Amino acid sequence: MLLDEHRNPIVLGERVGSPGGEGTTHAVVGRNDMVAKIYHAHRLPDRHQCEKLRFQVAAQLPHVRKIAAWPQKLLFGDGKTVGFLMPRITGKSIHLLYRPDDRNQHFPKATWQSLIDVARNVAAAFHCLHQHDVIMGDVNETNVFVTAETGEVRFIDCDSFQIQGSNGQVFPCSVFTAGWAPPELIEAPSLISRRTVQHDLFGLAVMIFHLLFMGKHPFAGVLPDHLLENSPSLEDLIKQAIFPYSQNRRGSFKPPPKFLTLQALPDGVANLFERAFLTRVRPSADEWCRELEQIELKKCQWGHVFYRRMSECPWCAIWNHGGGNFFVVITSGDGSGSSLTEVEKLLSAVEAAAFPNTANLWTSLEKKEAFTFAVPALSSLNVPSFQAAAFPAIPKERMGFVGGVFVLLISVVMMFVAPAAFLVWIIGFVWGWSLIAPGTANPAYNQEIEKRKNAPDQMTAALESLLQSMQQLSTRSLGEFRDERKKSAQRVATMFEQEKRNFDVQISLVRQELRNLRDETKSLPKLRDSLRRQFAEKAQLEAYLRNVRVPSHGIPQIGPVRYNTLVSYGIFTAWDVRHMRGVPGLGPGAAELRDWLRRIEGRFHFNSSAPLPSAAEQEVRKNVQSKEQEILKLYQKLRARWIALQQSADANRVHGVLGEAVAKEARNLDALIVKTKAAYEDINSKLDEQVRQYGHAIADAKSCPRLVKKWN
Ligand SMILES: [Zn+2]
Repeated sequence: MLLDEHRNPIVLGERVGSPGGEGTTHAVVGRNDMVAKIYHAHRLPDRHQCEKLRFQVAAQLPHVRKIAAWPQKLLFGDGKTVGFLMPRITGKSIHLLYRPDDRNQHFPKATWQSLIDVARNVAAAFHCLHQHDVIMGDVNETNVFVTAETGEVRFIDCDSFQIQGSNGQVFPCSVFTAGWAPPELIEAPSLISRRTVQHDLFGLAVMIFHLLFMGKHPFAGVLPDHLLENSPSLEDLIKQAIFPYSQNRRGSFKPPPKFLTLQALPDGVANLFERAFLTRVRPSADEWCRELEQIELKKCQWGHVFYRRMSECPWCAIWNHGGGNFFVVITSGDGSGSSLTEVEKLLSAVEAAAFPNTANLWTSLEKKEAFTFAVPALSSLNVPSFQAAAFPAIPKERMGFVGGVFVLLISVVMMFVAPAAFLVWIIGFVWGWSLIAPGTANPAYNQEIEKRKNAPDQMTAALESLLQSMQQLSTRSLGEFRDERKKSAQRVATMFEQEKRNFDVQISLVRQELRNLRDETKSLPKLRDSLRRQFAEKAQLEAYLRNVRVPSHGIPQIGPVRYNTLVSYGIFTAWDVRHMRGVPGLGPGAAELRDWLRRIEGRFHFNSSAPLPSAAEQEVRKNVQSKEQEILKLYQKLRARWIALQQSADANRVHGVLGEAVAKEARNLDALIVKTKAAYEDINSKLDEQVRQYGHAIADAKSCPRLVKKWN
């Protein structure tokens, strides 16, 4: 029999929550607003604790009482203090806000904004305690509750708080939790008997950090490999003030990769963290309140909330870099339907995508003007006309010849007329011959004559050959140029052909996947309905089968002996039969039993209007959520692919690259023209030279000078 201070009987109801180290908490019959903490029989409060409780019950702390499960009335049993009444706290433990899975389940609407608001409320609640000389002492997440609807903060386990008595007496808090205690307490645990606000403020900063950084501990970072062997404990790190997120980070201890940094917060808040973890003059609860209230936020297209001054959404950035997905933002369409809109928006962008048109870029190459050469006709060359027949006689030599013949004739006549004057006609023969011989017997002379006669013809042939090579050069180089021009245009044309093909293939893949994704997103409500039905049917069938007992009579082959066997194996209901495994000795009874089960199952009717049990509802939600996560993941992947494709098909880039290629090809063609022109000029000058020599040759031939008479 429990009595309160006024000897009113108190009747305990069912236990609330799990038992703690000191005692258990119970509902109180007839008092919905109250619960009772009852100490374990072996942990009843001693004299000092009783005094503390009496002091707490008597304390006039209206503000504190509003935010804490403050002891209201002592409870007595057998004349001993066995517990106390305190207000019933609604809400859930604050740590259920940290991680996405817990958060989705317990605080499904919470955004980062909500977490900042709760952090602010925690700070405000601590401020209230500290203003009234109450120190929480054992700061940790199990002592703080948050209401799901409003994000208000409530403290529990208030009997452990450190209280200042009116006469300066201190009722200490005698425990602390690793990871939450400040370095001073780790270094000197004896300080525990007289804690200060500074000690609380360390724990407060840890709690705010947990909220803002998704449950990560501020001193949990990443060690380089070579230090892993002797990795320091969390306590060591706290003592040495090695705060890995710090801007003034020392040593090789790094913050977790792919995660939020202090840069994601305003400088004011970041500085408070630095002060809280690196110094022993920590920011007060009030300072925290003020800074947290000032954080200005904005939303990304996904509905992530982040600090307004950041250029990109850190949650998206973490997710895109393979980090965690800390806020589930895709919704099945029951809510805002934003995910479907996003998928459709992306899809329409992808549907409209095309590789830039490049066809008109190389026409300038195709149209590049080919050069032409004038190849003169032989007749148009300024060469004097000449006919070999007109080659002048060699008059003097001809005279000698005629003279020689004449002298020889006279000598012959003389030989017959005056054979005695032989001296005269012999001399006549010699002289006559000597006159004839030079014109006929000197081969060098004859050759020279021949050469001069032929020179003009040879010159003409040389001229013709030069003209021919000029013609050839003209035809060949023009052909070459045209070929080269075509190749140039082709080279440029094919430059992006492969890329364009790849782009088309990739884009059609992304398009197809997005269409599937859209359909999947659209069908989420249907999935939810079908899951609901499935789970409801399962649950109803189970309840129905559990209700049908295996009859002791009436199933053939199941006599009293076999029935007893069934009972001894715990087979009582149709549900048990359905899950029966390895019950020996049933013989043909086993088959009869299965037939019986089938008949029972056949009588089951699904009632679609019955409400879904909450466990099944949760199961459905978990299933739908995991589908949503999948959709989100795929969406992000497709979006990243789309962004990369878009960059590859950027018109400015493609046109820029092509423009450069066109200019380069044009320069090559120009160089070809210059080279060909030089070759032409070369032949042209040879032609001039040839014409000049031709002139000389004709002049030579015409002048036909008397040659030096040589006897070989
Ligand atoms: Zn985002």
